[in-house]
Amino acid sequence: MREIAHFIVGGAAEAARYGDVYDPNTGAKQARVALGGKADLDRAVAIAKAAQPAWAAVNPQRRARVMFAFKALIEANMDALAHLLSSEHGKVIADSKGDIQRGLEVIEFCCGLPHLLKGEFTIGAGPGIDVWSMRQPIGIGAGITPFNFPGMIPMWMFGPAIATGNAFILKPSERDPSVPVRLAELMLEAGLPEGILQVVHGDKEMVDAILDHPDIGGISFVGSSDIAHYVYSRGTAAGKRVQAMGGAKNHGIVMPDADLDQVVSDLAGAAFGSAGERCMALPVVVPVGEDTADRLRAKLIPAIEALRVGISTDPQAHYGPVVTPQHKAKIENYIQMGVDEGAELVVDGRGFTLQGYEDGFFVGPTLFDHVTTDMRTYREEIFGPVLQMVRAKDFEEAVALPSQHQYGNGVAIFTRNGHAAREFAQRVNVGMVGVNVPIPVPVAYHTFGGWKRSGFGDHNQHGMDGIRFWTRTKTVTGRWPDGAGDGSSAFVIPTMS
Ligand code: NAD
Repeated sequence: MREIAHFIVGGAAEAARYGDVYDPNTGAKQARVALGGKADLDRAVAIAKAAQPAWAAVNPQRRARVMFAFKALIEANMDALAHLLSSEHGKVIADSKGDIQRGLEVIEFCCGLPHLLKGEFTIGAGPGIDVWSMRQPIGIGAGITPFNFPGMIPMWMFGPAIATGNAFILKPSERDPSVPVRLAELMLEAGLPEGILQVVHGDKEMVDAILDHPDIGGISFVGSSDIAHYVYSRGTAAGKRVQAMGGAKNHGIVMPDADLDQVVSDLAGAAFGSAGERCMALPVVVPVGEDTADRLRAKLIPAIEALRVGISTDPQAHYGPVVTPQHKAKIENYIQMGVDEGAELVVDGRGFTLQGYEDGFFVGPTLFDHVTTDMRTYREEIFGPVLQMVRAKDFEEAVALPSQHQYGNGVAIFTRNGHAAREFAQRVNVGMVGVNVPIPVPVAYHTFGGWKRSGFGDHNQHGMDGIRFWTRTKTVTGRWPDGAGDGSSAFVIPTMS
């Protein structure tokens, strides 16, 4: 069986424990991944610590050139990377290419590093006094990533971290770890010095080792909310800088004036694409008014029934299998829970099988209507191809629903009314808002981050926040006196008065 080892300079030690990596299409175990701990991390950190000062001393334009070369390598390897990604994750090939491309767009942003890293300067802040601020790397950063975007999310993190002069240790999801390793290999091929990007594999044991390591200065985490909160609390208690993105339950508000045909096709992609395993999926639809709800439901049912579930290499498939048998069971349990809680199961995706792939982890598209806010299936994240309809009586209730939900990652409003859209975007208590855009993932040069239990910490991913998170500001106040001073001491705090 294929073995996936840590990507540490000098090679990896024999692992004491391994995790299973599946082919979600067939249900077979296709590889085993090393599950490491403190000893592996210590080795990687020692190597990173030795390599980082020289990398930070490379001028920004040369560091950016590594990013340019990496971009070219990713493009040349796109097909192979996408197939590798799909084979472990299960998403369809076109979607895997999107996963990689989205990460690549952050790398493209990092190609502008010399400009992004320029500091601020004030001449003549006082007599003979100039002030300037510079951004310096924090040293060694670590990233802990989820299974659902094994291309994009590692690049969100290591792109800005490495471009700004840090060494970086990536701990990818143990469920689909091969693409992250491949990305690290390509960074080396692009000219990155050894030791600046290493990959360690593992589960809680490795994460805890990262959280406690005294030489790691910053940690970026993306995953589910309880673990995000744990990572944030333990990491910050150890004095580290931590950004921790969590789970989501994104709502799509459908106003009575919305173009319902467009809404249905947007919802189909946003709720069921990647089998709903996206933190920016749209698993809750909120039609405003009973009439809107009935009209929408009538159009949604045939659209959902027409969705094609297939293996990830099927170019006609809208989505593929979910990632593991445990995740499939969890989604199907939530569907049963929804029935038990009294929601109306309109389309039931349980028991779906694909001929020739009977052991694959497929879940058919599922639609619930008459879901209410007291239901656990509404309050919690299902992370599968399940769309829940919550009927709102008016605009006020539609604003309140996502605003009061524990998660606050993304939200969308579908309307032709500019005032309603503007009002909604202004008032809703959620971090990323789409106006007639079902998956409002900001472009790479803006920042990505949710509110409430969808994000802990005060910096978003990528954009200028990525540069800020991975650097520390140093401010220099310099005086070059003209020699004409009276030599007196100042005992009062200097002010601008
Ligand atoms: P997860 O929380 O199970 O795992 C994320 C990472 O944490 C993995 O690297 C995993 O090895 C590690 N981990 C798992 N259990 C741990 C524990 N007990 N202690 C310490 N570390 C542990 O998440 P997942 O299932 O891989 O990914 C799906 C989740 O990620 C969903 O909740 C989804 O919404 C969320 N997500 C959020 C964003 C965002 O930007 N907000 C983006 C993508 C995914």
